[in-house]
Amino acid sequence: MDSDRIKHLLKSSQSKKAEYILYFLQQAQRYEYNHALAFAIEEANNYNLPLIVYFGFTGNYPEANLRHYTFMAEGLIELANKFELKGIHFEIIYDEPDKGIIPFLEKAKTVVMDIGYTKIQRQWRKNIYQEILLNHPQIDLYSVESDSIIPVVLVSDKEEYGAYTIRRKLYDFLPRFSSTLLIPTIQNKTMIFQKRHYDSVEELLKPININKSIPASFYYHGGYTEAKKWITAFISSKLIHYEQSNDPSKDLTSKMSMYLHFGQISSLEIYHLVKNSSVSEKIKDAFIEQLFVRRELAHNFVFYNPNYDEFESITTPWAYLTMINHQNDIKEYTYSKNDYIHFKTHDIYFNSAMKEMVYTGYMHNYMRMYWAKKIIEWSTSYKEAYEIIKDLNNTFFIDGRDALSYTGIAWCFGKHDRAWAERNIFGKIRYMNSSGLTRKFDILEYVRQMNLFEQTTTYHNETSV
Ligand SMILES: Cc1cc2nc3c(=O)[nH]c(=O)nc-3n(C[C@H](O)[C@H](O)[C@H](O)COP(=O)(O)OP(=O)(O)OC[C@H]3O[C@@H](n4cnc5c(N)ncnc54)[C@H](O)[C@@H]3O)c2cc1C
Repeated sequence: MDSDRIKHLLKSSQSKKAEYILYFLQQAQRYEYNHALAFAIEEANNYNLPLIVYFGFTGNYPEANLRHYTFMAEGLIELANKFELKGIHFEIIYDEPDKGIIPFLEKAKTVVMDIGYTKIQRQWRKNIYQEILLNHPQIDLYSVESDSIIPVVLVSDKEEYGAYTIRRKLYDFLPRFSSTLLIPTIQNKTMIFQKRHYDSVEELLKPININKSIPASFYYHGGYTEAKKWITAFISSKLIHYEQSNDPSKDLTSKMSMYLHFGQISSLEIYHLVKNSSVSEKIKDAFIEQLFVRRELAHNFVFYNPNYDEFESITTPWAYLTMINHQNDIKEYTYSKNDYIHFKTHDIYFNSAMKEMVYTGYMHNYMRMYWAKKIIEWSTSYKEAYEIIKDLNNTFFIDGRDALSYTGIAWCFGKHDRAWAERNIFGKIRYMNSSGLTRKFDILEYVRQMNLFEQTTTYHNETSV
């Protein structure tokens, strides 16, 4: 593992008899290709200590609901079984992640944290840092990059303008950071506390009081095995057609975003699987452009923009200027969030995209762009549009609340994009219309597929949204 993945945040200044190494697992909810875990095991083996992997399970994660928690819990149950098999102690504590860890710090020699980029993830890590700094001088604290292929701070020291400014930098670092990763075997398998078993999602979620307004997805299930099932099927039959993956009716995408969001699979592992496949280099590059360049551009955006989720800070000066110039343009249609959720707009393609979102927890990338652009067109102000898009995005998508969520939405307001010919409502921001859909794709086939989802899912009867 390249040493630049690892940051030694605090050096131990006092020796004290320690009982274990502690890994704060939060973003990287997996065993395979988990650099933070690999480093924590190496530390445990160096000191001949056992390893405790700690996960703080909060019911208060912002904007999270049953759909997200179920997907995460499915992954955690699989992970708990894996750790048990490997002789690693896994502790799920029902508390805020930065609070539940405190009792474990007392007897820890080293604490290893994985990395997450959203505000709350960074705040948790800052709080743990402060707690160790003030009260636990015996601890060596490390953070290990396990989410981006290239550590965000190494690629660039600023918010980048777009894919065209970051692509070269990312590729320059790639040879150093793209090695495969084998997880070392833990030597000391002593269990510190009594073993717990996490048998079902219901059991795992029972102790926390979560928002249950949105049901779990019937179509997508969490966990590394599921992620591997999807990516294997994708590589064997869909990747070869990836250049047509913009077509929403063709279902040629990987569905990896939700697994990546919960860290249930590593983008580096996906990278290797794609690199080792038999498709042409051109097709591999097209997929890696999304998985690597676009995804890590999103990490750059949320890392360097402290207000990445506030309308006033998400886009570029030319985009704000054009919005000011067009803020009073007449709107032919305006709709409320409730109209969207109940598929009540005049646009069947938009309604179909909403059906995909509401019923499955996913939406095709092209339809995400179209969907958000329509909400901009039909809202009374740009800020209102932003708030509705963000809210729907983070409520319904399993992959919502991610760096890619904020970046994808910001892109619809001109971020990382260029100025286009001026037009009504959008000004110079890129516009999308339904004739693009009908001209390029068999979009009625997409509509038909989404109607099928609707017919096979009982949703509105069960829940109130
Ligand atoms: C308005 C809007 C909202 C979005 N909200 C989210 C969100 O909440 N969560 C989320 O993960 N993504 C979001 N995206 C980005 C993108 O649409 C999804 O990542 C993608 O559709 C996921 O499907 P997939 O994994 O099957 O994609 P594939 O085409 O199979 O791509 C593989 C991987 O590449 C990355 N990728 C693909 N497209 C993009 C993109 N446009 N930008 C950055 N990375 C990309 C993802 O990690 C994805 O899993 C949004 C985009 C827009 C325009």
